[in-house]
Amino acid sequence: MLYTMKPILDKAREDHYAVAAPNVLDYKTIDVAIKTAEKKNAPIILNVTFETNDDLSTFVNYAKDKAIHSKVPVAINLDHGGDYEQIIKSLKMDFTSIMVDRSMLEFEDNIKEVSEIVKIAHTLGCSVEAELGHVGTNIGADSEGMLGSNTIITEEDKKATFTKVEEAVEYVERTKVDCLAVAIGTVHGLYPKGLKPSIDFELLKKLRDAVKVPLVIHGG
Ligand SMILES: [Zn+2]
Repeated sequence: MLYTMKPILDKAREDHYAVAAPNVLDYKTIDVAIKTAEKKNAPIILNVTFETNDDLSTFVNYAKDKAIHSKVPVAINLDHGGDYEQIIKSLKMDFTSIMVDRSMLEFEDNIKEVSEIVKIAHTLGCSVEAELGHVGTNIGADSEGMLGSNTIITEEDKKATFTKVEEAVEYVERTKVDCLAVAIGTVHGLYPKGLKPSIDFELLKKLRDAVKVPLVIHGG
């Protein structure tokens, strides 16, 4: 069953469970992800980045065909969608959902760009995920959280990038996104041996209570 992200996540929020969204890297991982979801009788979101395949349109078509014939709800989401051109091209393909990552922009600029894309995507029946705060990456970090030669990722540095509750509420209201990726301490990529994830569950709870749409947690 092919779905957009919205009904899958709205139901998950209502019934208190999470939905896995693995990054599918090739045709085989699409098959495995859907097969595993069927085995667990769970909905699934297939995350595809623009760089996943040289012939992205055929790749997404394959995922769509698999999703239509699947026994569980499947959404096909553009993960970390980039510039305007990329977003519009993705909307022309068979993505049922797009993530517009403007988390590096200032608050007002983020709202402006994402709102415009939400209008277009919703007209075409596509869900939109955005990100507020910024989820960083572990790539290049060592076991002490050292990045490069001297840069230490301190707890304060990290917390400065966390999502703020009042901003999240205002952001969702103004942009009308269907779900929101939040920064609570999870990080993209593999954790180097010995580096412990520190996640602010208290903040997550506050965000969950205040924000009206489902939350998305990125990271490894
Ligand atoms: Zn991500």
